Amino acid sequence: MWIRGKIFLKEFVEGCINFDRRIKEIRKDCKPDISFPSDALILPGSVDMHVHVRGLELSYKETVTSATSEAIYGGVTTIMDMPNTVPFINSPEKIKERLREFDNYSRTNFGVYSGVTSNSEVEKLPIAGYKVFPEDLEKQELKFVLSSRKLKVLHPEIPLSLNQFRNLRRTWQEIAALDIIKGNFHVTHSTNYETIRISKSKGFTTDFTPHHLLLNGETNCLTKVNPPIRSVTERRKLLRALWEADAIVSDHAPHTQKEKEMPYQLCPPGVAAVSFTTPFIYSLAMKGIISFDRAVELLSINPSKILGIKAGKIEQGYFADFVIIRLSRWRYSTRFSKVIETPFDRYPLDSTIVSVIVQGKIAYDGGEIYPVRGVNAIEDSRH
Ligand SMILES: [Zn+2]
Repeated sequence: MWIRGKIFLKEFVEGCINFDRRIKEIRKDCKPDISFPSDALILPGSVDMHVHVRGLELSYKETVTSATSEAIYGGVTTIMDMPNTVPFINSPEKIKERLREFDNYSRTNFGVYSGVTSNSEVEKLPIAGYKVFPEDLEKQELKFVLSSRKLKVLHPEIPLSLNQFRNLRRTWQEIAALDIIKGNFHVTHSTNYETIRISKSKGFTTDFTPHHLLLNGETNCLTKVNPPIRSVTERRKLLRALWEADAIVSDHAPHTQKEKEMPYQLCPPGVAAVSFTTPFIYSLAMKGIISFDRAVELLSINPSKILGIKAGKIEQGYFADFVIIRLSRWRYSTRFSKVIETPFDRYPLDSTIVSVIVQGKIAYDGGEIYPVRGVNAIEDSRH
């Protein structure tokens, strides 16, 4: 298939892309199958390294279909799934079962992280890497995971953080966790600038979330997240992450309305807005706050590099995954997720997603989501 329009190749150029599942050719002229209007911008699809898809026994919160449909609506064409579902994913059998579930139902490309384990069979599977939770930092199995060359994603807090009142979960506990790890680590959802600065000085890659940047403290169950949202001063300093962090992630963590209506001390933490990140970052680019170059780095190029996948770039041989946006004001809300309430509801955004292509097929046309099948991005990138 040929498409024509304004394509992002380091800068925007008028041109054509020819693709099947991968990009075959980019050139100036063609007879296109689809021609996008001059106000539409063709960008690489976004890669979200930190999503809790749920599914399996947690399908009452969100299914693979509902989470990945919501992702597509938000311009995300590849998601990486966290293992803390029910059952927990850290054995060869459970990983295979999980990959089968994604094979059957995922509308985005996908990858799965295993939980910490000392099972060497896990190491041979096409996983994205390991997720290290705070409680894992004192487990025996951590040694095995530290010796693996695969990617490790750290939730940076020390085990102590989990066993105290929320207002005592301070930033030093986040920074202290960085001293326990070494090797190929990616430090996720940094809530403050120091975590990013120190992680980088130790050679780790970093990301941050829109909620730790934008939300004004933890006011109710809707804004309850782990690690907690920091003070206004800390959040202002975190703005530097827009220029200095490697990636931005959603940490999409869906719960039912009933669970979120529980008393504050009991309700489960998590914001479920996988579809917010991409239009948010491109809105900043539309306003000139960050460059499109930097926006694409945060959303696509860097996460793909960290994961070692053939995505995130409009270049020959890469996945034919695109998001097409244009300048148009709208107010955020989820549309395909089981979660209908987020703290970003009605947040004004300046970039509208008009179309999404996954593996060379139209997955979203501004109205409908089409049942496109994603691939295991880790496995598929090997050939
Ligand atoms: Zn998470």
